[in-house]
Amino acid sequence: MPNLLWSDKRKFVWALSLILLSAFFLTSWSSYRVAHNSLSEQIEYNTLPLTSDNIYSEIQQDLLRPIFISSLMAHDTFVRDWALQDEKEPAPMVRYLKELQDRFGTVTSFFVSDKSGKYYHSSGVLKTVSPTDPADSWYYRVRDLAPGEEYEINIDQDTADRNKTTVFVNYRVYDFNKGLIGVTGVGLAVDKVRHLIEKYQQRYNRTVYFVDQSGQVTLHGKRFHGANSLHEDPVLAPLATRILTTPSGSYQYERDGVPVFLNSRLVPEFKWYLMVEQTTHESESQLQTTLWGNLLVSGAVTLLILFIANLTLGRYQRRIEQMASTDKLTGTISRQVFQVTFDHLLAQSRRQQSPISLILFDIDHFKEVNDRFGHNVGDMALRRVAQQVQSLVRSSDVVCRWGGEEFVVLLPECDGLAAVALAEKVRDAVAVMTMDVNGEALAVTVSAGVAEYQEESGTSVLNRADKALYRAKASGRNRVVLAG
Ligand code: GH3
Ligand code: MG
Ligand code: MG
Repeated sequence: MPNLLWSDKRKFVWALSLILLSAFFLTSWSSYRVAHNSLSEQIEYNTLPLTSDNIYSEIQQDLLRPIFISSLMAHDTFVRDWALQDEKEPAPMVRYLKELQDRFGTVTSFFVSDKSGKYYHSSGVLKTVSPTDPADSWYYRVRDLAPGEEYEINIDQDTADRNKTTVFVNYRVYDFNKGLIGVTGVGLAVDKVRHLIEKYQQRYNRTVYFVDQSGQVTLHGKRFHGANSLHEDPVLAPLATRILTTPSGSYQYERDGVPVFLNSRLVPEFKWYLMVEQTTHESESQLQTTLWGNLLVSGAVTLLILFIANLTLGRYQRRIEQMASTDKLTGTISRQVFQVTFDHLLAQSRRQQSPISLILFDIDHFKEVNDRFGHNVGDMALRRVAQQVQSLVRSSDVVCRWGGEEFVVLLPECDGLAAVALAEKVRDAVAVMTMDVNGEALAVTVSAGVAEYQEESGTSVLNRADKALYRAKASGRNRVVLAG
């Protein structure tokens, strides 16, 4: 029976831990997923488009200025008049370009005449463009732009200073009859544009870069880790066509195991795509830390609950075991436990060849006690007799309530005669014991049957003791009889 209880308890504790842990795990995991998804949505639908809007409007202010200046130059009547007067005097044009450059703070300003091919610059006439010089190919490209296209943006080495890379705005200039007379414009140092990108990156903590319509990365800051072209980038290549055919879009991809959110938007004036990227790395790792924290707390709470459950169960279990193993009224051991102890002691006695005896006590005329004094008094008398028996036996002896008002005492390493002597002692002690019941004296006596174990079964020795007890009763009660 105790073993059954133990295994039940273990099963219960296992089930409890399983339920608690899975409940905790499920709630932690689902709240992590919810946070994770709302973080992704937040970035995709809010943060990135907003950043893109902000950067876009800053570009309007910072990068569109050179386009505006170039447009002014292309439509300036001075430029057109001067060009149409056969470029006799370079000085006014050079002065004009210098003025413009100083006033708007551009790194360069130029006019290329279609008629003479001369390249005018704020410092003088630099060269004459030639269709065979690869460095001049840009001019012929702009000259042949599709109808309706007024200008192009080009990143190139500066003709005036070969060490510098410049973003050029090349604007077509027409005479008053819509005939092409040249190309004018200004240039902005790429460093300056890169500085703008860095500024955006720092302010918004995102990666910002530009790609042209063929997918080439035209400008980027220090943080950029991608390839030179969308098509060459293994993780972006699958998205390249979609990006380059839609004016704006939101995308998600993974680089080195880290999810990246990308927002692209065409800047029509440049014909470039503004690309803004963000990873969820920091917020994600924060979420993961929270998840681990939650799981840790859950684990600790589970352990605590298990500890408390174990303690409580243990206490109840011990109580139940005690209730099952001892008789409630007299505190002597119960018949179930007696059986186990009995078998064990008999086996031990056989092994050790040591004597073992048992005494069966039965209170005399107990029915009358009950009848006269009531059941409660009977109970009290039973308790007193049990106490008396227990106080007289050795600690190694086993006293059991056999049933009703009968007790059996097991006496290891004790032969029949010694057992009789002990039974006599008990009988005597009970006989002289009086109990006061509302001024009335109550005395009881006991009869006992004693048997020493011989080569026999447990049932057999009990039967012999029972028979001896019967003889004690028959021969007048309040006496001890040793079984033959
Ligand atoms: P005898 O001398 O032949 O043993 O006579 P007796 O009256 O004791 O007869 P018997 O052993 O047959 O009766 C036992 C009685 O003990 C019957 C029952 O009412 C009473 N008894 C059994 N258990 C309890 C108990 O727990 N409390 C009380 N008060 N009485 C009990
Ligand atoms: Mg009886
Ligand atoms: Mg009796």
